[in-house]
Parts: sequence; C-alpha cells; structure tokens
Amino acid sequence: MPDKVSVAMGQGSSCWGCFQSLVDIHMNLADVLPQLDIKFWAAVADFKHEHLEEYPDGSIDIGLYEGMARTEEDVHLLKVMRDKCKTLISFGSCSTFGGIPGMANFSDIEECYDVKFRNNKTVKGGEVPTENLPPITDVVKPNKDYVDFDIYLPGCPPTSDLILKALTALLKGEDIELPPHTVCHYCDREKEDTPIPEVLRPYQGKADPDRCLLEQGYICLGSATWGLCEGQCVNKGAPCRGCFGPPPPIHDDQGAAGISMLGSYAPIEPEEILEQVKDPLGTFWRFSYPTSHLGSMRIKREEANDQ
Ligand code: SF4
Ligand code: SF4
Ligand code: SF4
Repeated sequence: MPDKVSVAMGQGSSCWGCFQSLVDIHMNLADVLPQLDIKFWAAVADFKHEHLEEYPDGSIDIGLYEGMARTEEDVHLLKVMRDKCKTLISFGSCSTFGGIPGMANFSDIEECYDVKFRNNKTVKGGEVPTENLPPITDVVKPNKDYVDFDIYLPGCPPTSDLILKALTALLKGEDIELPPHTVCHYCDREKEDTPIPEVLRPYQGKADPDRCLLEQGYICLGSATWGLCEGQCVNKGAPCRGCFGPPPPIHDDQGAAGISMLGSYAPIEPEEILEQVKDPLGTFWRFSYPTSHLGSMRIKREEANDQ
C-alpha cells in the first residue's frame, strides 16, 4: 500500500448519522486522518460531484456510500462511486438494506408527498416542490440492486468501534474480519426456553434485568440481527430493534426470522399475536423492508405499474 490511502465518501438520502459515527472515533481520528487522502466528501469540504466524476475509473482506493438512493441524483452518485472506487463499502443500514427511509415503501409516493409536503401540519398551502430538485424515485430500491458492493458495514449507525476496526484493517491492506454471530451471542441475559405469556410493549411492566427480554414478552430481534454492535442495547436493558439487519448471508429476511422466533416462543394464536403487536411492519422490518420478501414484492409491483 502507498503512504496514503485515497478515499471518497458519498452520501445518498440519509441522516448523516453514519458519518457522524465515523467522526465519533474521536482521538483515534488523529491516527487515521493523516493516512487518508480524501478525494471527495461533499458534506465536509466543498467538493462538487464533477470533482468525483473527473477521476479515472478505479483510481480511488476506498469508497464509503452512506444512505439509500431515493433521488435520481443519489442513484447517479452511487454509480459514479462504484466506477471510481476499487473497494466500495456499503456504509450503514440505509445503504445496506434501505434502513429507516426504506419504510417509505409502506406507502406509495403520493401518500409520502401528502405527509411531507401537501398536508404537512407545519406548512400552509403545501405543494410538492419541483424546481431545481432531482426527481424522486417511485420506490426505494436497495442500493445493491443498482451496484455491487465489496463490503457491507451495516448498523444504524455502525458503531465507532466497528468503523475504527474496519478502517484500521483497510489501512493495513488487510481483510476486514466481521464475526457472523447474532446479537443473542453477545447478550448476557439468561435464557430458560420458557414460553411467552403475552406480548408486552416496552413501557409495560418492569423487565427482569437478568432474563432474556423475549422470554419475558418484550419483542427483541436479537436472534434475527447481526451482532456487530456486540449487543449494546440488550446488555444495557433495552430490547434489540434490529438495527444491524440480518446476519450473514446478510440479505435474508430479518423480519420473517424475527416473527418465526416470536411464534416459536409464544403459544398464542397468530390472530392474537397480530392484535398484540401494534405495528408489525415497523416492528419486524424497521431497517430492512426493501431487501425483505414482502419489500421486494412491493418493488416489483411498482415496476409492473411503470410498464
Ligand atoms: S443507517 Fe441510520 S444513522 Fe446511518 S444514515 Fe441511515 S438512518 Fe442515519
Ligand atoms: S432475544 Fe434478546 S434478550 Fe433474549 S437472548 Fe437474544 S438478544 Fe438477549
Ligand atoms: S442491540 Fe440491536 S438495536 Fe441495539 S445497536 Fe445492536 S443491533 Fe442495533
């Protein structure tokens, strides 16, 4: 490897939380930054897209793409990043599975416009803006359907420890080792294989701090979630909401696995479970709807409507 590693950081539609997590490696930035030759990071320096486009294909060592591709500009940037970067990393759960913004696929685009613009409670006479804005795609398609990635680094956001570990390996020219275990593997809580009496909302009752939350009735997606966070929520008292997406092979259906685990623990009729889980789509597919079976049917339906 040369003295410096050239990098490009691209951002699609996202909250910038993944890049914030990168910045949050704090003092370790002092070790990492001098080794990076930043070729493009529009959110931090005054780079323009044409600056990235001007580089020869394959001339940048590492690219990180945060966010999902909701606008045509996002899709374009994603493809340019793929062309220019030797190693392209899908950075965060939005980029890897569609993430929180992928929940927009629960509704059609007109309903999204209603909520965001036309009937927005903080706006009078709201209209959908059209001037000087890139067109919005009808549906959130997973980034992997547009380009191939070399590495997936999910998380909402990926933890700073994970980012540091990945960057350090890349800077040394080594492979990134990502253990395949689920969150349950890292969870200190005791499992007794007892059935769930009823499904509880997080605010109901008082959870035993030593016992598996799922067995107590709280929906915990730990068994269906990649444990790259090393179980940081479950070991501090909160159920896992699934933000690292499904474990390897990572594009399995996380929500279906979560429901199946709940079903196998709860001797409750499916109708009753449905009654007790107030928001099944948002509960089980909060971070991975576009890459799920249901989500891909939704995308196919939209594509069929377009033909
Ligand atoms: S994965 Fe989470 S933190 Fe990262 S951009 Fe998406 S919503 Fe933000
Ligand atoms: S289901 Fe949740 S609480 Fe139970 S062992 Fe797995 S991670 Fe821990
Ligand atoms: S425990 Fe679950 S929700 Fe919490 S950070 Fe890990 S994967 Fe995300």
